[in-house]
Amino acid sequence: MAGTLSDNSDPLWHALPVEQLQEHFALDPLRGLDADAQRRAWARHGPNTLPEPAPKPLWRIFVRQFKSPLIYILFIAALLAVALGHHGDAGVILAVVLANALIGSFQEGRAERSMAALRKLATLRVRVLRDGAERVLEARELVPGDVMLLGAGDAVAADARLIDAAQLQAAEAALTGESVPVSKSVLPVPEATGLADRHCMLYSGTYITAGRARAVVVATGVHTEVGRIAGLTERAEEPKTPLELRLEQFGRALVAAALGLFALVLLLGLWRELPLSEVLMVAISQMVSMVPEGLPVAMTIALAVGMQRMAERGAIIRRLSAVETLGSTTVICSDKTGTLTRNEMTAVALWLPGGRELAVGGIGYAPEGRLSEGGKPLESVDENTRTLCLAAALCNDAQLLPPEDERVGWSVLGDPTEGALLVLARKAGLPLDTLRMTAPRESELPFDSDTKLMATRHRMDDAPRRVWIKGAPEAVLSLCAADGHAALQAARDAAETMATRALRVLAFATVDADELDPSAGFEALAGRARLLGLVGQIDPPREEVKLSVAECRAAGIRPIMVTGDHKLTGLAIARELGIARDEARAVDGHELERMGEGELRDALPHIAVFARVQPAQKLRIVEALQARGEVVAMTGDGVNDAPALARADAGVAMGVTGTEVAKNAAKIVISDDNFATIVGAVEEGRVVYGNLKKVILYLFATSMAALLVLLTALLAGYPLPLAAVQILWINIITEGTVTVNLVMEAPDGDEMRRHPIRRDDPLLGRDLLARVALMTPTIAAVTFGWFAWRLSLGLPEMLVRTETFTVLAMCCWFNVLNCQSATASALGPRLLRNRWLAIGLSLSIALQAAVLYVPAMNALFHTVPLPLESLLPLLALASLVLWVEEVRKLWVRRARGSAA
Ligand code: ATP
Repeated sequence: MAGTLSDNSDPLWHALPVEQLQEHFALDPLRGLDADAQRRAWARHGPNTLPEPAPKPLWRIFVRQFKSPLIYILFIAALLAVALGHHGDAGVILAVVLANALIGSFQEGRAERSMAALRKLATLRVRVLRDGAERVLEARELVPGDVMLLGAGDAVAADARLIDAAQLQAAEAALTGESVPVSKSVLPVPEATGLADRHCMLYSGTYITAGRARAVVVATGVHTEVGRIAGLTERAEEPKTPLELRLEQFGRALVAAALGLFALVLLLGLWRELPLSEVLMVAISQMVSMVPEGLPVAMTIALAVGMQRMAERGAIIRRLSAVETLGSTTVICSDKTGTLTRNEMTAVALWLPGGRELAVGGIGYAPEGRLSEGGKPLESVDENTRTLCLAAALCNDAQLLPPEDERVGWSVLGDPTEGALLVLARKAGLPLDTLRMTAPRESELPFDSDTKLMATRHRMDDAPRRVWIKGAPEAVLSLCAADGHAALQAARDAAETMATRALRVLAFATVDADELDPSAGFEALAGRARLLGLVGQIDPPREEVKLSVAECRAAGIRPIMVTGDHKLTGLAIARELGIARDEARAVDGHELERMGEGELRDALPHIAVFARVQPAQKLRIVEALQARGEVVAMTGDGVNDAPALARADAGVAMGVTGTEVAKNAAKIVISDDNFATIVGAVEEGRVVYGNLKKVILYLFATSMAALLVLLTALLAGYPLPLAAVQILWINIITEGTVTVNLVMEAPDGDEMRRHPIRRDDPLLGRDLLARVALMTPTIAAVTFGWFAWRLSLGLPEMLVRTETFTVLAMCCWFNVLNCQSATASALGPRLLRNRWLAIGLSLSIALQAAVLYVPAMNALFHTVPLPLESLLPLLALASLVLWVEEVRKLWVRRARGSAA
């Protein structure tokens, strides 16, 4: 039967007994597929992927550019121009519309492409058995017949039939709508059973919430149940982020203002008795200039660029809104293990009942080092120490792997805490290789971060059966027989002493038992356990985190440690890293439970460490911080962290140790689990916002300047200083080629010395308005001044207008350099660092030259060729806006320097 599998002759997997399933795939469930079978299955079924919706074709992006009120207005203007007999103007307007659509499509296409590339970064990984060894694969590599190994928090990446399950529960809401996790077992169900009740099956797109399992893949890709439902449905568009919505609002306000100004220019023109047709065209062009058409696409590109830079620094963004939230983050709540510390555990201290203390030599996973007592190496390991180490080795899911070659050292597959225990057992001389065979595990209660306990039952040589328990000291001690009260107290004291030394402490106990009923949980062991001892592990802090913590503080962000570990361990490490200073408090889960909402809120500013927190309490911490108006980033890795991750403003899941459930709930996944990466992402979030404000500043300052020139001319009794098509040109071509490129600006370098961005920070706040107040009048004065002076010399109007038009374009070029940074001089190498801006600027200059020197363009744009030598004074005059800003920047830098 094996190998004859075909999609339409698939058996009903849920009704098939496990033996028949194995027979079907000719499978050894302890070895998984061999290389040959994998190859055949791959050739037959291909990758385990769903077809991606095709990228949006360029022509559709192009067509969409025409669907905007701005374009409708321009079309009306073109019609008007035709009606008035200005055919040339109509042609120019249409050409400008086309150019606008081309620029828009190019930018948008670029944004779409980088977004698509970024989406690919989040690949799902699965553990499988192949050729008798455990492997980690990408989900796309799964084939029918593969044996998947699953644990709490894993995503199910293909449809599979269970062959082994311990306490297994799966969340299947995505598929069945059932919101409560369902229990799973290996027993087959009747053929007619519906999807939701097939308890022996796991389905792609669902998650394991508890327990462990082995399951054989039966369907991949489009043949899975989700594949069938999903088909080729389009990817849902991401909802607009709060900042996008605010930008839209800002854009609408400007459009309203533009309409008002249209009326004003028209009225002024009529009052001045200028020709109606000309005034009308100029009023329309002016209105169009006020509309910030580049803004939405600038926003998309800013977000895409931000995401890309964050990805380069190891933070993968899953929800766009996170980019901006990161910039506003005021508190980062971080796990300890692996995020603030290296998660490279070494057991260094043992404590045995009776008060014996042993030290363990060596560091890292190499099992080299000896046990010593009172400074003297032990010649041989006594019985009590041996039993403690036996518990450590058996109640353990990790594997210790010898180095494959000299360059890589010993490594651990699984939880580093457990890996370190295996290393300890080897140092104590236990035969790890044979241990799991001579004392096979019969049942288990997997580790869970709520109870902070794990237990396994084994068949042993010396006793028929024995249960080994390990976990957090207070949890293990609460299971121990109460008769040795003094001994338990001594253990408690010893655990505290170890914790003050920043050690992570585990306690071990044993129960002589015939039964370990997994469904009865740990309570069934209460009062029956005998304490074996304590093991203390070091987990060195990550060096770079110290710097990141200091950087956070300078940036007005408060780091808080939220750990499952002991309060004293947490506090000791928090002090070392600078998270806890002077008066800082540490609060543990019990104390937190006793605190009322008000009390917690008041205490929050003083708390640096939350320890022994249950995952559910993380949610409470997030909510309490948010109630104080904080913008909270919170890290998490486990299944139970999901609610807190989803509630936090920026939920951050761990890429390495994080479960798929956590990743799915988080907005950000960091690939190296490192606190420093979160801080880097915050910095990038600030850069994105800063760059967007540069775009806003530029758009606003230049269009206001053109308006000011026009209004001054109208009020002061001058002819119109610019032709309608020239106003359009400045707005769409001169500005359009450079504006969006401002979002590509490199960081200013002082992002992390500013305060977090307030969420209601006005887009055009005081800081920007102050700069507009400097730039706009300067540009307007230069442009209008030149116009008025040249007219007074009695020069031909066409020549004067051409010069005015050119000087305004030059002002725009200088001003975009101003907008690159609020403080840094534009004269340094800054421009060259932004390649995109340099290209845009060159393009803008070339196009301006074409309008001046290509005869056909002269006719269309009402220009005359300017002699080259006359350009120099224009350039010098236009640069005034640059010098004005340079002086302001110098002054700001000086002021900062003296304040520092
Ligand atoms: P953080 O949330 O900062 O990463 P953590 O990883 O130390 O903290 P948990 O993994 O929940 O938090 O561990 C909490 C406690 O549970 C530890 O201090 C330890 O005593 C115990 N513990 C950790 N891992 C295991 C395990 N595999 N088996 C038994 N007990 C464990």
